[in-house]
Formats: sequence, C-alpha cells, structure tokens
Amino acid sequence: MAVYELHDKAVMKKPHPCGENLWEITFLGADVKLRCCKCGRMVMLPRQDFDKSLKKVIKKETEQLQ
Ligand SMILES: [Zn+2]
Repeated sequence: MAVYELHDKAVMKKPHPCGENLWEITFLGADVKLRCCKCGRMVMLPRQDFDKSLKKVIKKETEQLQ
C-alpha cells in the first residue's frame, strides 16, 4: 500500500477531464481531498477509493530537490 502524507502529489490512474494527472493532497482523513495541479479543481473521495485509483505518490521532499 502506498504511503502518502498531506501535501504530497498524487498521480492517479485516470486523469482529470482537464488533462492533468497530478494532484496535491490537501486533506487526509476518512476522506481524501485532492486539488488538481492544473485547473485547481478540488475533489474529495473516500480513502479506499483513493487508494484504488492511486498510481504513484510524489513525495514533497523529492519535489524540493528538483
Ligand atoms: Zn483539472
């Protein structure tokens, strides 16, 4: 199972209708809230569904090195 924290970026299996496939995790609880990195749209989904549709996590530490 993927390990993720608040403000990590998430790559999902299905892209957002706007074409972007990178999301920022903005809330973590029983539900997960994500913000699309391109259009800024927020979506909330049950953590179980998030785990299922998650492809990979880009840690915020990793991003700072780029
Ligand atoms: Zn979008």
